Amino acid sequence: MSHLADVVWHRLTGLMPGELKKAELTWLAFPQQHLALLARRRATMIVNRVRLFAFLFAALTPLWSIVDFIVFDHPLWLALAAMRLLACGAFATLLLCYKPSGNLFDAYRAMAILFAIPTAFYVASHTLLGTHQLTGMSAAIASGYAFLPFVLLAGLSIFPLTLLESLLVASPILLAQALAGYLSWTTLSWPSFAGAFWLLALISAVSSLAGMSQLAFMIALVRQAIRDPLTGAFSRGSGEEVLEMQFIISGRSNAPLAIAFLDLDHFKSINDGYGHEAGDEVLIATTEHIGHVLRRGDMLVRWGGEEFLLIMPNTDLGQAEIAIARLRENGFGKRPDGSPLTASIGIAERGADQTQDWKELIDKADQRMYQAKQAGRDRFVSSIP
Ligand code: GH3
Ligand code: MG
Ligand code: MG
Repeated sequence: MSHLADVVWHRLTGLMPGELKKAELTWLAFPQQHLALLARRRATMIVNRVRLFAFLFAALTPLWSIVDFIVFDHPLWLALAAMRLLACGAFATLLLCYKPSGNLFDAYRAMAILFAIPTAFYVASHTLLGTHQLTGMSAAIASGYAFLPFVLLAGLSIFPLTLLESLLVASPILLAQALAGYLSWTTLSWPSFAGAFWLLALISAVSSLAGMSQLAFMIALVRQAIRDPLTGAFSRGSGEEVLEMQFIISGRSNAPLAIAFLDLDHFKSINDGYGHEAGDEVLIATTEHIGHVLRRGDMLVRWGGEEFLLIMPNTDLGQAEIAIARLRENGFGKRPDGSPLTASIGIAERGADQTQDWKELIDKADQRMYQAKQAGRDRFVSSIP
């Protein structure tokens, strides 16, 4: 049995080479274990797509009034046009009020509103059209109004959602459709209603798959983007994102946040004396060395060539100094000639330095690193004594 599972697994991974790691597969089903960076990027992407959809709907919903005008009699057209205007206003409000915040719950809310507007429009227009006896062309256009749930569920495929999230969005629409059939709101006969419902369920399944496939792609891209390929430390871009996030969190909860800016001493002479390859080897070893003494929750970022940033949440100035002393004691590895590699380090802390944003915090640490260089290297400088 497990052999069969292995064979299936190998076939599957052969079909999507290098896309996902085994541990990341459950991420496709549930959002809880996603890395903070993935969650943020996904939230941003969802809100951007909501805004795109809101823009398209805000423009297209009133435009269709022209078709209504041609085929429906005047009172019916007017009522539908009023509904369309309301929907257009709601879409425009959504577009104006929602900017990506990186918060997943904001993204969920934006999606819920996006789907609620056409659902309300659908229920209202369908109820209205049900009270009219229509024939010919106007009957044909009226039956088009019944397609809205299909459009909604197919539209779900543009979002990078987990299976659970897709089901949570799709099920109210499916339930509403079932309820509408039960109350025989629809003008359709029973067998064709059942057929339509079946189609709706199939579209939901395909949309969920499409969403998961987008998510898989996104997980792989985020994984590649957050790490520096040479050392495996976090890349500068993800470091900036995390620092910005930590800065806001620590300000809100009034918790300390310390950083250390490290620049390796006389690194150029390694390249000059032993070649760039040897320099790269030293950088890899140094990252490993630093990694050994990091606490859980600390984050090592490769800021530039031989410059690193250490982010230490919930760490005050005194604790940061102790951590850096421990780091220096453990060392940064060896130069190719066997002598110890050293670093010049600047430390800064959000509260102690009264910094207003994360860039200022970096500037402070960077300036102190420079002071450490000028004072003779192989040392750290913390806030002004
Ligand atoms: P200082 O003590 O003043 O910091 O001296 P330094 O030589 O370390 O300082 P500088 O900033 O002048 O030089 C840094 C050197 O690091 C320049 C570059 O050759 C080297 N370097 C930057 N990135 C890499 C890399 O990815 N691999 C290798 N092998 N070398 C790198
Ligand atoms: Mg440098
Ligand atoms: Mg240097």
